[in-house]
Amino acid sequence: MDKLVKRAGTPGTSRSAASLLRKMSAKGAALPMKTVTLPRAPRVGLVSLGCPKNLVDSERIMTKLRSNGYDMSADYAGADVVLVNTCGFLDSAKAESLEAIGEAIAENGRVVVTGCMGKEAQLIRERFPQVLAITGAHQYEAVIAAVHEAAPLSASPYADLVPESGLKLTPRHYSYVKISEGCNHRCAFCIIPQLRGDLVSRRPDAILREAEKLIAAGTRELLVISQDTSAYGLDLKHAAWPWKGGEVRAHMTDLVREMGTLGAWVRLHYVYPYPHVDNVIPLMAEGLLLPYLDIPFQHASPKVLRAMKRPANEAKVLKRLKEWRELVPDIAIRSSFVVGFPGETEADFDYLLRWLEEAQLDRVGAFKFEPVEGAAANALPDQVFEEVKQERYERIMALSARISADKLAAKVGRTIDVIIDAVDPETGGATGRSKADAPEIDGEVHLRDAGALKQGDIAAVIIEESDEHDLFGVPA
Ligand code: SF4
Repeated sequence: MDKLVKRAGTPGTSRSAASLLRKMSAKGAALPMKTVTLPRAPRVGLVSLGCPKNLVDSERIMTKLRSNGYDMSADYAGADVVLVNTCGFLDSAKAESLEAIGEAIAENGRVVVTGCMGKEAQLIRERFPQVLAITGAHQYEAVIAAVHEAAPLSASPYADLVPESGLKLTPRHYSYVKISEGCNHRCAFCIIPQLRGDLVSRRPDAILREAEKLIAAGTRELLVISQDTSAYGLDLKHAAWPWKGGEVRAHMTDLVREMGTLGAWVRLHYVYPYPHVDNVIPLMAEGLLLPYLDIPFQHASPKVLRAMKRPANEAKVLKRLKEWRELVPDIAIRSSFVVGFPGETEADFDYLLRWLEEAQLDRVGAFKFEPVEGAAANALPDQVFEEVKQERYERIMALSARISADKLAAKVGRTIDVIIDAVDPETGGATGRSKADAPEIDGEVHLRDAGALKQGDIAAVIIEESDEHDLFGVPA
């Protein structure tokens, strides 16, 4: 394929070959032609059982598979994998589903099961251990991932409208990876669970495959996001999926450990401080994860946290921060806080400021409480006046700016790794971020002379100056 690309005169053509092609063309000579054989699309056979709702599910799955580049097969013999969309409404429907799975295995052998019988995975596995994957009803992403796993598509730059890594709104060198949707908590100020429902985690192998594609397409930094990263996999009962000859569990620690081996920076966001978060700190010490945790504490006063109905609201956070810093001295902790929550007294707010003084968080974002339509907190008594919210907001921001300035000043004279976000050709300088800075929300590192650095490079930088939020330096 490479040879053909070069012959066609695309970037990479040698000067002599390109000029030969131009001369031949000018003289009316026929250009040497070679046809490109596109890879054959894998074919999926579909057996759809049950009610019209199941039929609509089958149509959605087929539509998605076709848009991904799969062909459909009308018979077992021509299919690379057979998908059986089952019905489990009545005993007779279950029997029919099992019979259909048995037939597909006998006729083809490579079978993925989805639909209502997904709830009876154990029963199916006992009868047909050779089934490749079993997913439940409406688990579209899971069934599509199972088909991709069973019959992988070959990427073709000639036929694919979308690059293998998907379309991105971020620059090529960093990418957000969403590991779950929804949330099982019911924080009083938040309506996300009403909008997006309870936690639904993605399969760990699908997440890792996406991460690999992003890295192959140029990503150097993966930003793990969700509504509640620490809760990842709870809904999947932390089951394990095959991955690279072994297994990976649907659990935050296992997933991010595996992600850390893929070769990009891995940064964790929205991590609630459940006890098992302690297990990711050693992964930072090993260099598998960036020494960075974004933990949305939202407040420190136990009374306010209870009123907010916050998860992982426990008193030992300061002690744990200390232990984490002992293990990973450079760990950067980012958090956000809500000020002026209903019932927050001056004493509660003072408690928060004293807590922050002790916690010495690296990055702090603050928000004034706003009654979002539909949030339970709107009905709480003792709403705080706007002027008081504003005054508290200014105080918390001033304190966090002072802490940040001190922490950044301590980095002057050190050499740190910086990922380059943008090079300014006019000034010859560049802007990047250290391991302690997530894009958009944290500080930046400004390089007065970028040398030969390009966007996405990771370079050692000597820090010369600092201010409240940013660092300034030159490549080492
Ligand atoms: S604030 Fe976060 S943890 Fe709380 S309900 Fe909303 S999404 Fe869930």
